[in-house]
Amino acid sequence: MPLTGVHFLLSYQCTYECDHCFVWSSPRSGGTITLEMMTKVLDQAKELGTVDNVYFEGGEPFLFYPLLVEGIRRANERGFSTGVVTNCYWATNDDSTRDKLENLKQAGLKGIMISVNPFYAEHVPFERTQRCIHISQEVFGFSNVMIYQMEYYRQFLELGIRERITFKDYLELSRDLDYPGHVEMFYMGRATSQLRDYFPKFPAQPAPNTQFSRL
Ligand code: SF4
Repeated sequence: MPLTGVHFLLSYQCTYECDHCFVWSSPRSGGTITLEMMTKVLDQAKELGTVDNVYFEGGEPFLFYPLLVEGIRRANERGFSTGVVTNCYWATNDDSTRDKLENLKQAGLKGIMISVNPFYAEHVPFERTQRCIHISQEVFGFSNVMIYQMEYYRQFLELGIRERITFKDYLELSRDLDYPGHVEMFYMGRATSQLRDYFPKFPAQPAPNTQFSRL
């Protein structure tokens, strides 16, 4: 199968420490990918000839905004379609949100993925998420803004959430909404220790068609 996409984790550092984070990001994580390394990977991806899209994520990529802008600019110069994933912590008012997004668009950014679920909502005031979504739709066009996960976005609107909400309060509020049935979860990283009590337990099974026995 040909490689068609490259995803850069600019850093493991993040503004938050969500319970479900599958890369263990937190404010205490440090370090970033360098511009030189990013450029080298972009050049190799170009040489490969099969890559058409490049995503920038983390951690929280907006913490390293100048690096993000330059990475997007270099990816765009090489003809890749570009996207970014964010938790919207930075969308504190309309003007600065629009400025940041317009600047990224000028650098060549084509679209944005905005994270929404109850684990983010413990940390990010929901009005920031809403602001980021609305202004992104104006800047990039409706079809270039992915709300991940849309089901939660609709739920939060329905429940009238505006600020942060604890997971416990969310569960209380959404009691009739079949919470586990709505979750798409990468059960890796911090989720395996923080969330184990929320999911039914099943004994581990060997993967089909492997020679490995159960651990
Ligand atoms: S916002 Fe994203 S990267 Fe940051 S801790 Fe939460 S899940 Fe991890």
